[in-house]
Amino acid sequence: MSATRVLTGIPASPGIVVGRARVVSDFGDLQATFRLLYTDRERQAEVRRFKEAVEQAQADLSRLRDRVAAEFPEHTHLLELHLLILTDQMLHDEPLRLIREENLNAEWALHRAYERVRELFSRIEDPYIRGRIQDVESVYRRLMGILIGQSPRRLIPTGDKVILVARDLSPAETTQMAGSGVVGFITERGGRTSHTAILAQSFEIPAVVGVDNAIKEIAPGEELILDGLSGRIILNPDQGVLERYRRRQAEFAAFREEVTTNAAEPATTPDGFATRVMANIELPEEVHLVGRYGADGVGLYRTEFLFLRLRHLPTEEELFEDYRKVVASLAPRLVTIRTLDIGGDKFLHRNDYVPEMNPALGLRAIRFCLRERDIFRRQLRAILRASAYGRVRVMFPLISSVQEVREAKALIEEVKGELRREGHPFDEEMPVGAMIEVPAAVTLCQMLAPEVDFFSIGTNDLIQYALAIDRGNKQVAAMYQPLHPAVLRMVLQVVTAAGVSGVPVAMCGEMAGDPLHLPILLGLGVAELSMNPLAIPVIKRVIRSITLAEAQAMASRVLEMVSVEEINDFANLFLKERFPEIYRFGSALAGI
Ligand code: PEP
Ligand code: MG
Repeated sequence: MSATRVLTGIPASPGIVVGRARVVSDFGDLQATFRLLYTDRERQAEVRRFKEAVEQAQADLSRLRDRVAAEFPEHTHLLELHLLILTDQMLHDEPLRLIREENLNAEWALHRAYERVRELFSRIEDPYIRGRIQDVESVYRRLMGILIGQSPRRLIPTGDKVILVARDLSPAETTQMAGSGVVGFITERGGRTSHTAILAQSFEIPAVVGVDNAIKEIAPGEELILDGLSGRIILNPDQGVLERYRRRQAEFAAFREEVTTNAAEPATTPDGFATRVMANIELPEEVHLVGRYGADGVGLYRTEFLFLRLRHLPTEEELFEDYRKVVASLAPRLVTIRTLDIGGDKFLHRNDYVPEMNPALGLRAIRFCLRERDIFRRQLRAILRASAYGRVRVMFPLISSVQEVREAKALIEEVKGELRREGHPFDEEMPVGAMIEVPAAVTLCQMLAPEVDFFSIGTNDLIQYALAIDRGNKQVAAMYQPLHPAVLRMVLQVVTAAGVSGVPVAMCGEMAGDPLHLPILLGLGVAELSMNPLAIPVIKRVIRSITLAEAQAMASRVLEMVSVEEINDFANLFLKERFPEIYRFGSALAGI
């Protein structure tokens, strides 16, 4: 019997499961044959064969979509996307042209067309858009499989307690797992923001992604523990380890159920300090999580994901529909729509895009929008129009001067005039806010305050810009410290300046969703927190259990400490002693 081994990856969906590995091989044998066509008859036959393959793929995908629609209607868009790719110019028209004009057989024509798409994608800087080649690849494999007479790989096995291990899983494949015997999955590729990870969370299937050599290391049928909280995979565990994890699994399930049961209760401290706990969302599909995890509304809707997903500039109608859906389904809860935060690490695929040496310091967010005013106006029109369907407020990312806020507000006024003339209803009083995520904005808070209705501190960026630590760079990840004394002072500075002007302050960076940071943030006076929906029940539990007075005393002590290590130790000790179950599980939930 082989020894217990441990692999690690990125925790993509929380939970612990024990099962047997089913290693899903790639289509290593999906080899396209090459054949030249000499006659019109041959060409026509290949065109027919290709079109029939497309029709069959369409029929298969439509069936799958209908099945998914019955249980998870919000996830059918991924299958819709694959249906669209099937008829896309690059993967549909181009192979037909190659058959007709370059006398290639269907398989080779498809292969050539796909290689070209792959080459185009590989040159895209933005990892998110580049990652969408997975969808194209999945459609390519489906079509090629049909052409060479091999059916798509069957993922969903009979039997239960199966943990899938694959190089990669397409979103379409992931949708097949809902309601199947698959209890978890492991992939070599993927990141936290991939569609596959988002779906895993929605289906509540624990997952670990980005595991190097998973296929080589894990033997088919091998028993393993998948810990989606820590990102650990324990292969061939012995009895002792199994028992320990089974206990952890049961405890986590009980913990999660218990905190979620009370999720809807208000987040007020025992001494009557009422806070608002909101959800961060990236896509309209996540709206159901807002209610399930007891959010008071949406504190950050990152709108750039729709732009990235569509891979074309959305029309005003597409944007409006997207926002209207979110706003109407959550009404009367408040929805905070953040205007486009493109640039930095997220790019639109634009022909005139200029690579930047330091994109995080480049033409990003509000700077991009004030330069590309047509795109900005289109989004502002859509947001205002959606405001007629519920409660909406808008906020601008990466503000670093008063002038930027004024220019953006002037555009809102212009757009309002247009909408009035066109007879579109909208909320005349829609609140406007500034994100505080650049040190300059912290310094200017007092001057920014009269310009806006609220502030929202974006700690993900504020930490990176304040400490000069790239938030996406593994090399310096350990120095990315939310409890750094400089960061805490900045938060205090914002809260104090805003308090003088009576402007409410929210926080929507990941820091807000970690129970380790919460008492200190409360003590500093942050009364609205927005976070990953899964983190909400835990955060509300902590708020309901500590008094504001206690939190303030903690904040005062921490402000006297000069080293981040000291502050971290202090915060950890508090959580460990006061909330032992949260200490064990809570940060893992928040970290996803
Ligand atoms: C932030 O910077 O904290 C934030 C919430 O915005 P994003 O993570 O989208 O940059
Ligand atoms: Mg930000």
